[in-house]
Amino acid sequence: MSERSIETKCVQGGYTPGNGEPRQIPIIQSTTFKYDTSEDMGKLFDLEASGYFYSRLQNPTCDSVAAKICEMEGGTAAMLLSSGQAASFFATFNICENGGHIVSSSAIYGGTYNLFAVTMKKMGITCTFVDPDCTEEELDAAFTPDTKLVFGETIANPALKVLDIEKFAKAAHSHGVPLIIDNTFATPVHCRPIEWGADIVTHSTTKYMDGHGAAVGGCIVDSGKFDWMKYADKYPGLCTPDDSYHGITYAEKFGLEGAYITKATAQLMRDLGSTPAPQSAFILNLGLESLHVRIKRHYENALAVARYLENNDKISWVSFSGLESDKYYSLAKKYMPDGTCGVISFGVKGGRKAAEQVMKSLKLIAIETHVADARSCCLHPANSTHRQMTEEELIAAGIPSDLIRLSCGLENSADLIADIEQALNTID
Ligand SMILES: *Cc1c(COP(=O)(O)O)cnc(C)c1O
Repeated sequence: MSERSIETKCVQGGYTPGNGEPRQIPIIQSTTFKYDTSEDMGKLFDLEASGYFYSRLQNPTCDSVAAKICEMEGGTAAMLLSSGQAASFFATFNICENGGHIVSSSAIYGGTYNLFAVTMKKMGITCTFVDPDCTEEELDAAFTPDTKLVFGETIANPALKVLDIEKFAKAAHSHGVPLIIDNTFATPVHCRPIEWGADIVTHSTTKYMDGHGAAVGGCIVDSGKFDWMKYADKYPGLCTPDDSYHGITYAEKFGLEGAYITKATAQLMRDLGSTPAPQSAFILNLGLESLHVRIKRHYENALAVARYLENNDKISWVSFSGLESDKYYSLAKKYMPDGTCGVISFGVKGGRKAAEQVMKSLKLIAIETHVADARSCCLHPANSTHRQMTEEELIAAGIPSDLIRLSCGLENSADLIADIEQALNTID
């Protein structure tokens, strides 16, 4: 059978009911599963047979939804988690322990930045941040003998920089380590990083995948392409026996396609939790069914708003990679020819005070710490997420105090533009 298109995978991937079974994925709201003999259950605990025994590790509803995202990204195995933060932590900690080192793009989500720079540092893991626009030589220089992985975001939240995935994949592979890409903002409808050389893809499903501001969640997808055994010295967790499972070696027993996700489930979910609720997985699946329709509208609305802002004399600058004038336009066209996402950032003439005035005058667009859902929303980082920073620190971080981050929802774009216009008219 020929490979199905992304639209069909969004709607029908991951779950195929049998004769007389529910058409929609069933919510298996059960913590545990019943067996006839202890022997049957023992095989599951030894990873000798696959099946369900306790929903902290695996649940059929969550697995159906993970299988759908796996198909959409073109991977071989996937798992859902309770948040995007848990996905970023599990994806990296699964192959990078005490003494390990990460090379990461500096243009990443603030929560991930803190995870690498502060929390994982306390676990003995260090991180070197590189400017995503750096040269190949600069990228090369960031590696150490302890480097275990490279990390970046397809479209950075909130900087909106587009990553040159091939450049990062080449550097990672020349040092014998995998590239992990957070593909939250692009979604697999607009970009499939595995096709450009990424080995592992992560998501905050809280954003466009859910798309309705209803359920926090995360996902990890493995491409099954990275050859752990070739670099066995670097990845003892995958390539030497796990005593907590009677000496199983993941890379041998589960092969390229299954080792990484099996280890993350069997060890990290078992010991750290971060399990998604079946109900949340069901809600996520409803979002996925229409993702291919919605993400196009988010992008079209953002492009219309960005074009309006670009030509408005009260605006000092606009950042949106869909604009021909944007620094990242050509990278965006290469990796996302059908469009990017619905998030724009822009500056208002008159600085911080004018930005505050505009935001409080908006009527349709709400002030929220969120992006990527059906309702348009905006945030003034200098006054909220980054309010501890001085003017100088804000500029150094690429978040000037006049910056407004605007997430364009699914409303009519003319209504969004009218709302922005009346708000801009309140500044003089
Ligand atoms: C929101 C976000 C995260 C964190 O996800 P949560 O679901 O909020 O834990 C990670 N990466 C990106 C790009 C995000 O936008």
